[in-house]
Amino acid sequence: MQTDVLIVGAGPIGLTLALDLGRRGVKCLLIEQKPAPEFLPKMERCNARTMELFRRLGVADRIRQAGLASSVPMDVFIVLAMNEPPLLRLPYPSVDEARAQIAARNDGTMAREPYQLISQYTLEPLLKAEVERRPSVAVRYGCRFESLSQRPDGVSVVARTDEGNVVPIDAAYVVGCDGGGSTVRKQLGVKLRGEGDLLRLYQALYFCPQLYDRIPIGPGPGHGRHYHVADAQSTFLIMQDSTKHWTLHATVQNAADMSVQFERTIGVPIPYEMLYAGEWKQNLLLADRYRRGRVFLAGDSAHLVIPTGGLGMNTGIGDAVDLSWKLAAVLEGWGGPALLDSYEVERRQVGDRNVGASRYASLGRRKWRAQYRPEIRQMTREGQAAREALARVADVEQRKTNEMIGAELGYRYVGSPVIVDEPGGPEHLFREYVPTTWPGARLPHVWLSDGVSIHDRIGDGYTLLQLAARDGADSLPHAFGELGVPCTTLNLSSDAARQVYGYDLLLVRPDLHVVWRGNRPPDDPGEVARLVTGHVNPA
Ligand SMILES: Cc1cc2nc3c(=O)[nH]c(=O)nc-3n(C[C@H](O)[C@H](O)[C@H](O)COP(=O)(O)OP(=O)(O)OC[C@H]3O[C@@H](n4cnc5c(N)ncnc54)[C@H](O)[C@@H]3O)c2cc1C
Repeated sequence: MQTDVLIVGAGPIGLTLALDLGRRGVKCLLIEQKPAPEFLPKMERCNARTMELFRRLGVADRIRQAGLASSVPMDVFIVLAMNEPPLLRLPYPSVDEARAQIAARNDGTMAREPYQLISQYTLEPLLKAEVERRPSVAVRYGCRFESLSQRPDGVSVVARTDEGNVVPIDAAYVVGCDGGGSTVRKQLGVKLRGEGDLLRLYQALYFCPQLYDRIPIGPGPGHGRHYHVADAQSTFLIMQDSTKHWTLHATVQNAADMSVQFERTIGVPIPYEMLYAGEWKQNLLLADRYRRGRVFLAGDSAHLVIPTGGLGMNTGIGDAVDLSWKLAAVLEGWGGPALLDSYEVERRQVGDRNVGASRYASLGRRKWRAQYRPEIRQMTREGQAAREALARVADVEQRKTNEMIGAELGYRYVGSPVIVDEPGGPEHLFREYVPTTWPGARLPHVWLSDGVSIHDRIGDGYTLLQLAARDGADSLPHAFGELGVPCTTLNLSSDAARQVYGYDLLLVRPDLHVVWRGNRPPDDPGEVARLVTGHVNPA
């Protein structure tokens, strides 16, 4: 088989990469070792930035239709059991409420899209169906990647079908989206560094259709998504997208204990079925390299985080989108070599920061859990004191997991060979998002007077945003034209945008990151166009 891009692994990252490459008409082959998507719980929250990216891929609405209803709040509770008054409630808006907040503000602080809760086992088949509609993408389940060897002009891959048949594949580029145990990464000899096997937990999935309507705590039925139990087993109950399925995590001895743990957590007898129970381990690991030659790593094959903060899949979606347009540009012939070099520079620093953010959030969770005392359930003065102490610490520390807007929206690519860097730059904050157009940052979302977001006006090539008339501004798109690179000028008269963006001219690339800004055209527009399209060797 011959293809331009071979994607190994149809988890959310491989599927997203295939979707975006397919949208751009790139010929690619996606292989997956499993015979079909599995009904196994993992992630359940697409963060706001992921939903912005899914919007650009044209699938945000479908994801919302398949996911949790938009009216359900996302409150987080610390409880002794679900039939007792909570020790702490941290309120978080439903998608409807978040949407109203986004509509009401125009200061660049908001994402274009709210988050969406959707279980990984719902998301994967949805993305698979979308990918299969793209004519340039071939999808083969039941096909395992085994080995690769690189040549100057391509990569020779050996894969094997479930029936044991060898499938030789010849690809111009290979992307390993094959998860934490990545065979592609091992074939490249790339090591993961950091802290591995930090904690082993059991996770179980339950079908319990009555629970949602019978939770007695909270402002109304179906009022929260996460219930952390103040116990010695780090028990943690998560509502899945249907509201009929629930997952529980706990440090118990074996899978059978997960029934007892579920019954203890829900507190009242409700019929349920345990569909799955298995062990998983927490890691904080980052790959040394994201690329060797024509082979790239994306998603969990390159970074493994503790899901506190929801920076696992969400970080990987950022990898997929960063890589897809660059591969397309090189295959279309207009992208220079530094464009592919920039993938590792840009995304490995985000992986590194997000491993740190996840560590910070999980240490917070450990801090409040360390407040657990065996007497916490007793109706005594000591019991009351233990409950109050735990709630007080959790009120500070649990928020670190649930309030990560800076890590979600505020990442900025520093030192990229395809961004016209300005020295300095704002600090990276995990918990706070401060809108900026510093080169390398995501362009803040701003509403225009017609109620359309600037994000929605930006197409798939480069865009010069012109917020005030500037002589000679067309020299920049002209320079792109000479290189055969798509670049559109968007003339906007928007005080709000000018105020948030701080400059009259901004050059934005297909993934909505700012690559250059100024109040007059650059002295050498050709140099800027060559640099941002990867034709300037940083050496
Ligand atoms: C309990 C739990 C909760 C989580 N919650 C969140 C959350 O709320 N938010 C979040 O962002 N992240 C969360 N995560 C992390 C998230 O699930 C992962 O980051 C995400 O699945 C990574 O996607 P991926 O596509 O990179 O890898 P994977 O999902 O691991 O997919 C890799 C795919 O590659 C296939 N594969 C492997 N080897 C081969 C081979 N040799 N040949 C062919 N195919 C192969 C596998 O079968 C698999 O389908 C959670 C994880 C866990 C365990």
